[in-house]
Amino acid sequence: MYTVRLWSVRHARGLRRLYVFFSRLAPVLAPVVRWLGSRRAEALLQPVERAAKRLMFDCRECGQCVLSATGMACPMNCPKEMRNGPCGGVRADGTCEVDPRMRCVWVEATEGTKRVAADHLAHPTPLLPAIDARNAGRSTWIRVIEGHPEPAFQPPVGERRTAQSKLGPFEQACRSSDFVVTVEVGPPDSADPQALLQRAARFQGLVDAINVTDGAGGNCHMSSVAASAILVAHGYPAVYQITCRDRNRIAIQGDILGAAALGVQNILCLTGDDVSQGDHPQAKAVFDLDAVSLLHIARGMCDQGQFASGRKLETPPDLFIGATANPFVPPYRDRVANLEKKIVAGARFIQTQFCFDLQLLEDFMQEVRRRDLHRQAKLIVGVGTLGSAKALAWMAAHVPGVHVPAPLLERIGRAGDQRLEGKRACIEIIRALAAIEGVAGVHVMGHRNEDVLAEIIRESGLGPAARGHPPAIQP
Ligand code: SF4
Repeated sequence: MYTVRLWSVRHARGLRRLYVFFSRLAPVLAPVVRWLGSRRAEALLQPVERAAKRLMFDCRECGQCVLSATGMACPMNCPKEMRNGPCGGVRADGTCEVDPRMRCVWVEATEGTKRVAADHLAHPTPLLPAIDARNAGRSTWIRVIEGHPEPAFQPPVGERRTAQSKLGPFEQACRSSDFVVTVEVGPPDSADPQALLQRAARFQGLVDAINVTDGAGGNCHMSSVAASAILVAHGYPAVYQITCRDRNRIAIQGDILGAAALGVQNILCLTGDDVSQGDHPQAKAVFDLDAVSLLHIARGMCDQGQFASGRKLETPPDLFIGATANPFVPPYRDRVANLEKKIVAGARFIQTQFCFDLQLLEDFMQEVRRRDLHRQAKLIVGVGTLGSAKALAWMAAHVPGVHVPAPLLERIGRAGDQRLEGKRACIEIIRALAAIEGVAGVHVMGHRNEDVLAEIIRESGLGPAARGHPPAIQP
């Protein structure tokens, strides 16, 4: 089955033509369907459609076929059911983060899309909505015959309407020409908020915002919504990270409202690492949404004042919404299509995975600038360090989506003081990033390494303290 699936992607161009031919036949077949009745026609058609699609595409019968927009690679074969582009965990050889026995479905989809149109980046695929579980097992051919459009949603219109004076400090910094600095803090394995506040205190006045991770790496910690609210209550501008791994759309929308009610002003929408990477590999992963559909829903809540269901909110949240990007793993430069989708879906700031390879970033930024995406969302590049070459090599081998070039590992491995050399390399990367057109800031990360991260920010001479206007902290 897997071999036939790959064959279909290799022949995406021919299969796409067949699909277009079939779509043109639809008006001819429509009277037959009307005569039979929609239900009876579907009952006749569905077994044929199921058998053909299972053979050709490993079809999972989601009932909302998007093969014509994904180079004939069925996104339902992705373990995270990503419908709008690859996750950030694709392995360097193009295999899947979750199941390394198979190629990433979206690496395949990118190749299939290139076969359909060589200039595929000039024709970005439509934003695909989250799966409607009610359609599982239904025929999509019947809907094509009946003249219904392919599933695609319209992006939210317009920019944020909030007055400049009411914007949070992080959004104000992003809207200025300042080079912004954010830092990642992991919530503790503790019911005591002091453990979190002690971590955050190291960055007082040094950063424009503190990201609060949401079960990073699939590991359980204090919830990110609670940790973000605690930081906000103590005067820190927090970015509440929301992953799609653990909650469905009902729970996530409830959490967004709750976070806004508690004063959180910034959210970062992510798909999330798979549960197999964390300390509860036996857990059921949810992935009801992917990051793009989450962004779209969050923007709908803010801009249109409604839930994904269309039900009106009494008081909409007012949030600065961001997303992630990873230019350092396959399909590399082609990932700009996924970035563009995130921006169209509503992201106004982007934070990337660790950048240890400036050339890969520059390749990506060329495409970003060509499409003017850096003017539509602030690009904040991830940076960081670890205590030794051994720790860095372990991270490169075991943390999905992290790429560390061999020369950097060798450089740190040769140093007498590896911790110091790692810090030096990080500061060099930060300075180089500050000179790249379109890079609006850095996002400093390092697991339980807060003291070194604070030193790096200070020694880089960046951030609010260096600019002379640290954000006010009101404990
Ligand atoms: S690497 Fe990510 S996007 Fe690709 S198939 Fe695996 S889970 Fe899906």
